[in-house]
Amino acid sequence: MPKFPVKRLSLKAISLAAVTFTTVAVTAGVAWAAYTDNMYPTTYQLGSCRSESGPDGEISCQTDNSALNYYTDASGTNALEAGDKSVVVNVLQNIYGPTDLTVSFDSTPSYSGSAETDIIYEESTVGLSSSAAGATFCNNAADTRGCDQQYVRIRGGGYYTTGVTCHETGHAVGLLHGQQASPRKANNDEALGCMETPTDSFEVLDANNISNINSTY
Ligand SMILES: [Zn+2]
Repeated sequence: MPKFPVKRLSLKAISLAAVTFTTVAVTAGVAWAAYTDNMYPTTYQLGSCRSESGPDGEISCQTDNSALNYYTDASGTNALEAGDKSVVVNVLQNIYGPTDLTVSFDSTPSYSGSAETDIIYEESTVGLSSSAAGATFCNNAADTRGCDQQYVRIRGGGYYTTGVTCHETGHAVGLLHGQQASPRKANNDEALGCMETPTDSFEVLDANNISNINSTY
């Protein structure tokens, strides 16, 4: 469920340098034993990936393959401001890029056919509950497990943080909250990195999420 009011900036926010540290840890190729399986599907989130017309609280898709391309909406009411786009690019290239996913920005996004751009980032509140900073939904399910195109929708006005962008992107590749993981963990378990909810603005993937991504893709 995409319900995580973003906390006010705390002193922890000064630890943005943790992003760089995590990246180094990933490229070192350490074999992490997963703390918990929080990759859809799990015993506690069987669901079924399907196409949705907007955020409905059901988050249950992996992306359809390891080639992960993305686009930030650049025109119309859902366009991202330059600062928000730079947050997305940083998260995708520096936090997801070092995983086994092959990440690229798609400057000519595709919205139809069988090879659509995997993630479209929008700045919008349409369909979001009042307590949600953002949500992810599948626009075009490839099958019951994978989605050909997902939308990440995050509020404007400072909500496009590293943590929230990392969290919603995590959902787009199949990562779940602690209560849907197996074994179950608290939703605010720090070992869940940016998939923790509520999500702090500085959160990154951390070892457990990386382990689950790399064993999936
Ligand atoms: Zn969530």
